[in-house]
Amino acid sequence: MAVKALKSKGIAKRLFAIIICLSVLLSLTVPAYAETADNNEETLIVGVPTDRCPIFYIDNETNEITGIGADLMFTAAQEAGYKVVFQQISEPSLKEALDSDKYDVLMPFGSAIDSASGKATIVSENLIQTPFTLVTEGKRELPPFGSLKVGMLQSQKGVAETINNIYPGMVIVTFETMDDCVKALRANEVDALLHNSFVWSYVLQKPAYSDLIVQPSTMFTMDFRVGTTNTPEGAAIISRLNTGIAQISDTRRQAVTLDYTSRRLYKYDFYDFIYSYWLIILLAFLLFLAIIIIAVEKIKVMNKRHNEDIQNLMTHDPLTGVLSMDGFRKRVEELLRENPKTPYFLSYNNIRDFKFINDRFGRSEGDELLKFWAQISKESLKENEAIGRITADRFAVLRNIMSDEDMRSDEINVINPVRNYFIDRGMENPVNLCSGIYVLTPNDHKNIDVDHMLDMALIAEKRVRKNHDNNFAFYNPEQWEKGKRMADIIYSLPSAIESGDIQVYYQPQINYETKEIIGAEALSRWNHKKLGVISPSEFIPILEDTGLVFDLDKYVWETVCRDLSALNEKGINIAFSINVSRLDIREDRDIPELFSNLIKKYNISPDQLHIEITESAYVEDTEELINTTNKLREYGFKVEMDDFGSGYSSLNMLKEVNVDRIKLDLNFLTSSGNEKKSETILSCVIQMVRELEIELITEGVETAEQADFLQSKGANAMQGYYFYKPMPIEDFEKLKEGTPDND
Ligand code: C2E
Ligand code: MG
Ligand code: MG
Repeated sequence: MAVKALKSKGIAKRLFAIIICLSVLLSLTVPAYAETADNNEETLIVGVPTDRCPIFYIDNETNEITGIGADLMFTAAQEAGYKVVFQQISEPSLKEALDSDKYDVLMPFGSAIDSASGKATIVSENLIQTPFTLVTEGKRELPPFGSLKVGMLQSQKGVAETINNIYPGMVIVTFETMDDCVKALRANEVDALLHNSFVWSYVLQKPAYSDLIVQPSTMFTMDFRVGTTNTPEGAAIISRLNTGIAQISDTRRQAVTLDYTSRRLYKYDFYDFIYSYWLIILLAFLLFLAIIIIAVEKIKVMNKRHNEDIQNLMTHDPLTGVLSMDGFRKRVEELLRENPKTPYFLSYNNIRDFKFINDRFGRSEGDELLKFWAQISKESLKENEAIGRITADRFAVLRNIMSDEDMRSDEINVINPVRNYFIDRGMENPVNLCSGIYVLTPNDHKNIDVDHMLDMALIAEKRVRKNHDNNFAFYNPEQWEKGKRMADIIYSLPSAIESGDIQVYYQPQINYETKEIIGAEALSRWNHKKLGVISPSEFIPILEDTGLVFDLDKYVWETVCRDLSALNEKGINIAFSINVSRLDIREDRDIPELFSNLIKKYNISPDQLHIEITESAYVEDTEELINTTNKLREYGFKVEMDDFGSGYSSLNMLKEVNVDRIKLDLNFLTSSGNEKKSETILSCVIQMVRELEIELITEGVETAEQADFLQSKGANAMQGYYFYKPMPIEDFEKLKEGTPDND
């Protein structure tokens, strides 16, 4: 030990040098105490733990070991004539440190304990009474002290031993760090943590430990002593220190304790900071994120607007705000692609003598007129229509074909206000428009060429300009009539279904031999409010072209099922044939499922529905139709191939598809050519169908000769004007009731 060394004369010189060096070195870490000591005093190296703030800790600013214990020891040593140098214990506990000769004395001891190697110790008088308390997670009922399981710091092994002597039944588990202690407490591995109350006053300032509670009653107090191995030198130091300790007054002790426990020594580290302010940090982060997102979105919107502005400049006319020539061309192409079935017309419009207007009223007044015209024209347009300014006073307009009434309302809304533009402003000059109209043909929808359409409209417009007695002319008037008729059919379908303008008629089917009525085909009849009676041969293809036929068919199928159900109730059990357009058959519609729901709804048997699919449909969509046919037959419906003989691949088709009945259309087989040859073909077809074991019915039978011929070939099922024309359900019902029933 250092004191012993000083007394030994032989090595005094060498040791003196070492002490000088040590002093210099230690003066760097613990300068305050070293400097205040008298140079003649002996130096005590005091080993202390430094993880016991506020008892022993390293001051961050001075880098010295300080605290309540250090202060008291310093005072005691000074009184005893020692100079002290505190040194951090590098061993795991006091017991191990006792075996090292790095320290003259060690602190703190509650009582004398043996060193790790079993050496006895000697301890000083008590420096101060230190209270020990228990800490738990929240308020908790604790078992009696004797059976408690407590957690302590490993470095307090010495204390633990003393406690064990007081409470032998208490289990003490030691942990390396305070964090480990707290973790064990939270995991219920220990009932409570035990430490010096002064230390708790510091440790519990950590935000993450805010849920830990000091158990109110102090468990016990322990002495706070200086100790060293029990050697003569050790005993001498302790004895000298005791004289110093005796000099410390209680006032001094209280002052030191109060000084350290009332200081806010705990310094927040990064995690403490996050723990304490996580909500504010999170909110700040979210706010920051929101600001960034808003800023990015704003930039995007601004960019988009900027791009739109540029785009707008390219596609719009700056004077009137309507589309420019380029913009119009693009928009027309777009509209025709999006509405391939909508009937359209394109007009080329021009102000007669616009030059004169400019000369007379001034250019700016001319501009105002153009703006006015563009504005009211634009207001009268529907969403799928377009207007563009070609040049100067020329505007092109793409519009849906409309009825004559709509054309007249256009005249009231646009043409008249333009005509009266100056008159309404107190001047006498009427403004006359010249319009050339080109009605788009189906081909214009397929091969879209806007310039060509404009050229055609321009030709018509030129005619109007030369000829002063009309305001507008058609390039293709017949197309206009056709288009108008088509528009009348398309636009009035929903109201026609609703109001009963479309009805279902039934054309009886008979067995020519027995004269029995074996069924009927359901055919739609449309008594159009404006166009009068129109034939399915006209409106079905139009509805097919515009994708509307399914709306009609759903209505027809439902009507047929309702009629069948009513007949069933009256005891008339019969099958009706219904027509299914090839355009009705699409995977997403599931036609078999639709029919199946219908027969359930109307409580009819599936074989009462003969589903007619035209032969040509099989050629176009072979796979889809074969699948649908098979599925329909699985459900128990009868499937018929309609208009057999009208297509090109009739015979081939029969290999591919399984149908229940073939419907031969006599018109296709006999309408032209040599009669004898027709009969031969017919005989062969009948023979073939029979051999394929498929049922057969012939439609379009108009004469007795045709019926007799068919009968002679054994084809007795027939339908045609020779027997009956399609009729309302009431007539069919009366007819059926009056004819023999051979069932
Ligand atoms: P289709 O299915 O082949 O119907 C037979 C057509 O022939 C019916 O014409 C019928 O009135 C006519 N017809 C009947 N007997 C004779 C006759 O002895 N001589 C002549 N020359 N014709 C006769 P309609 O009613 O004008 O129907 C024409 C086509 O329109 C039908 O041909 C059918 O494909 C279709 N159709 C009719 N109604 C509907 C319907 O509600 N939905 C669907 N998708 N198509 C329908
Ligand atoms: Mg048919
Ligand atoms: Mg047919």
